[in-house]
Amino acid sequence: MITGKNYVGGQPSASGTKTFKTFNPLLNNPNAPLFHEATDNEVDEALKLATEAYHQYQKTTGKERATFLNSIADEIEALGDELITTYCLETGLPEGRAKGERGRTVGQLRSFANLIDDGSWVKASIDTALPERRPVPKPDLRKMMVPLGPVVVFGASNFPLAYSTAGGDTASALAAGCPVVVKSHPMHAGTGELVAQAILTAAKKLNIAEGVFSNLNSSGIEVGIQLVKHPLAKAVGFTGSITGGRALFDMASQRDIPIPVFAEMGSVNPVVLLPDALKTKGVDWAKTYASSITLGTGQFCTNPGLLFAIESEGLQHFKEVLSQEILKIEPSCMLNPSIKERYASSKDKIFGQDGLKVAANYKGKVQPNFADQAVVMVSGADFIANNELHEEVFGPFSMIVNCKNKEELEKAVDCIDGQLTGTIISEGSEIVDYESLLDVLQEKVGRLIFNGVPTGVEVCPSMQHGGPYPASTDSRFTAVGIHSIDRWVRPISFQNWPNGLLPDALKDENPLQIARLVNGEMTKSKV
Ligand code: NAP
Repeated sequence: MITGKNYVGGQPSASGTKTFKTFNPLLNNPNAPLFHEATDNEVDEALKLATEAYHQYQKTTGKERATFLNSIADEIEALGDELITTYCLETGLPEGRAKGERGRTVGQLRSFANLIDDGSWVKASIDTALPERRPVPKPDLRKMMVPLGPVVVFGASNFPLAYSTAGGDTASALAAGCPVVVKSHPMHAGTGELVAQAILTAAKKLNIAEGVFSNLNSSGIEVGIQLVKHPLAKAVGFTGSITGGRALFDMASQRDIPIPVFAEMGSVNPVVLLPDALKTKGVDWAKTYASSITLGTGQFCTNPGLLFAIESEGLQHFKEVLSQEILKIEPSCMLNPSIKERYASSKDKIFGQDGLKVAANYKGKVQPNFADQAVVMVSGADFIANNELHEEVFGPFSMIVNCKNKEELEKAVDCIDGQLTGTIISEGSEIVDYESLLDVLQEKVGRLIFNGVPTGVEVCPSMQHGGPYPASTDSRFTAVGIHSIDRWVRPISFQNWPNGLLPDALKDENPLQIARLVNGEMTKSKV
């Protein structure tokens, strides 16, 4: 039921004349539907409606919003095969991945519904007055989190469901009480439109103001720029390239009234393979990493792009097995021609760097838009000296950094930028000799992994998906899991405020029966 239109609030709209098509990378052909690029007026209208909706929506109870999120999940499930077929046509990804990602998306919506149904997430804290205190009486102070206002969400190319229209950013913002305007990713605009219709159907059924959600199409950067610069936008969620995320971050901070941009961007996800692990289990780790590097054609933000180790026979053997194993894997399709082109040009650029040795480079016949996987090797010294070797090659590619000793290994790890993940592969007790390396790695990353692979991001409260810049623009927050709601709220304190006028979360009676910090103690009791 794709119409190729924008959804400005509940209304399908197509006033602009500029159109574009999505692309089937497997067939190497454009898909049939024509999408209308959002006009300046539609962008403006979407944010005006979102602002109007905010006044009503921010006052809905957690239970009402939980019903909304569960209803969105139901409507997405009800889209059935049409959603899966459209997803596959627009991405080249297999049906299993589409279904898995739909499950994750629906699961995320339901986990936010559970969170806000309980209500304790608002971090209510109450410090009752001490009027007798001298020399200064203590006032009654009560604090909680409140929503920021309309949030602009950019759909991610590599997660058309879980990090796009109703993905983690949208689910967490709606849960917090913020209306959302999505800038749909142009490469899966049809998938985005179906999900947008599901969200709007849920809103309509529950009588939620129609401006609570809008979905805008564009195949260029203008719509995104207008959204981020619009005075009514209060925050931005983004997943994509460092160039894109940084441009939006700069734009948002140069506004008359700057707004936060939570961008999750590049990450090469360093893996450090310690000598005993390479000696005793190098073959197993090589096979495991051949799969991890090529999983999803390497198009995961947690793809392991850098493998650090100390020169040894074990490392040589690991490199040989990894190269053999990775070449046995059939190349697979990338999300769209421009991502494939970028993969090819990043690979070419890195292949031209001094000191780089190609360990494996798939040479069989490769269909258009399919990625030829590769593994390369550089010395620790070359890696330290050349920043161009540190850049992300988005795709099935990894670089082994061969360090001459422990000191060089630590220096090499220390010279990389911020990352989403850092992994240690270790055997027996050898890890105790690498304490300072672990300290260096911890400084760099948002998630430390022991004897595993970084691909596979469990959605649960203890997951941290974010890291020091440029992994994300604000390492204090996560983009995955229930705590990602914290990006869309701000604290407000009420001083000596009449009980009857306080939000329910802060009232003496604790009508929501939530956990609160009352005079320093966590409790669900009344004050
Ligand atoms: P992208 O180029 O960063 O684009 C993401 C979204 O942001 C698109 O909707 C794009 O708009 C918009 N955008 C980009 N630059 C902008 C700017 N200067 N101003 C306003 N809007 C802007 O990412 P992509 O299309 O997803 O993939 C391209 C590359 O990003 C990949 O090859 C890869 O290197 C990287 N990437 C990395 C990750 C990761 O997790 N590390 C994930 C995805 C992508 P339009 O498309 O409409 O122009």
